Amino acid sequence: MVIQDDVLRERVERLEALLRETLETEHFIICFGLRDSPNGRGIAREGVTRRGQIRQYAHALELAFAHLEAAPLALPLPPFASDGKLHVYVHDVPRSYGFTQFVPGDPPVIELACRGAEPTPEQARHRSYAAAAHELTHAFTLPLRLPTWVEKPDGSHASIDIWQWLHEGTAMFAETLVFPCNHDCMRYLVGWCDEPHRSLDHWNAQYQAGVFIGFLVRRFGHDFLGELWSLASQHPSPTALLEAVLSSRGRAFASPDPNVTDVFACGYCGDAYFLSDPSSGCFHPGLLERHGGRLITHALVPEPSHPETTGVDRVDHLGCRYYQLFPSAAASALEVTLFCDPPEAVVLRGELLPVGTQFARLPGGAVSLQRVPAAQPDGRSALRAVFPGFSTANGLDHVVLVVANCSYGATARDRVGLQLTAQLV
Ligand SMILES: [Zn+2]
Repeated sequence: MVIQDDVLRERVERLEALLRETLETEHFIICFGLRDSPNGRGIAREGVTRRGQIRQYAHALELAFAHLEAAPLALPLPPFASDGKLHVYVHDVPRSYGFTQFVPGDPPVIELACRGAEPTPEQARHRSYAAAAHELTHAFTLPLRLPTWVEKPDGSHASIDIWQWLHEGTAMFAETLVFPCNHDCMRYLVGWCDEPHRSLDHWNAQYQAGVFIGFLVRRFGHDFLGELWSLASQHPSPTALLEAVLSSRGRAFASPDPNVTDVFACGYCGDAYFLSDPSSGCFHPGLLERHGGRLITHALVPEPSHPETTGVDRVDHLGCRYYQLFPSAAASALEVTLFCDPPEAVVLRGELLPVGTQFARLPGGAVSLQRVPAAQPDGRSALRAVFPGFSTANGLDHVVLVVANCSYGATARDRVGLQLTAQLV
């Protein structure tokens, strides 16, 4: 394959010299070598232990290609090599199951691991299929949006592409789109369950964004994701892109205004609580069973004449927290107040959602917290709402308060503090 970029060309030349066997399919040339060869020409740790591994990769790549290029997703095709194929190199990819590079002017280069550390052949097969679909998705999306490099906010002076979370989220989603019964991606979702207060676009939570991409597809269709990528090069950031594409459909991406039904707080954050509810945009009972669903910050049971107050919790931009509120026998109405420092209150949004005994969202009945106009005696700001019918009648098991930080982009605010008081009224 002719490559113009010096660094990429050197890498490809080294791999082509090393990996002398090929398997050709309709869209791919897969280059590989055997670890142990009976003629003494094995390539040791850079090789596969069996050819079946290569046939699995070939099968997965062609299946994934069909899903990505065809309607309704219909992603634009990546540039092919001069032989009309995409080239894939199977070897000992350093510290990874796969790696895809794209330099403008050259075709993307896909690398896949010659082996993993999974305990069983079945788990190894699942990892192989997931990795092939994942890396091929990168080969499709990387040419659609060049990187915007910024310094990682961890003091390491390393760089990160602000588009990477959207690339990784899309690739993780594609794994489950192509192979719905393959749960290999679950290994990356512990953080999604345990740390909902972290930002959707945090540089260290990129794989977790796959759940958000799945939500968008479920709510707006596969063509929405295709449209997103076809327009990516026209926008300065993923959040600006989401804002623009959702706006063209009459929707707001993330808004703290309780009068606006936004997609982030009212849609995604709310739905993410209901993993076992088929009507949820995040319906994923396997994730609930494996990792326990999204973390509950506090579960409160307010008693008559005894308000419950939490300590101060923090939530980053495009993150959220969940508070469960259980009715006691005598309950009738619940008043919930969120306190926060004045400059930060403007980014928070609170939604009270009724939950039934089967852990399904009860229809209607959602209540948005409203801004309290007057400053509180201690100088803080407050959001407040009263939830009527707060009793176990009518199938109510509990109410979940979803508090979302709706700030993002240039006005993002992190570690916003909030304190919750719940009392019966
Ligand atoms: Zn990736």
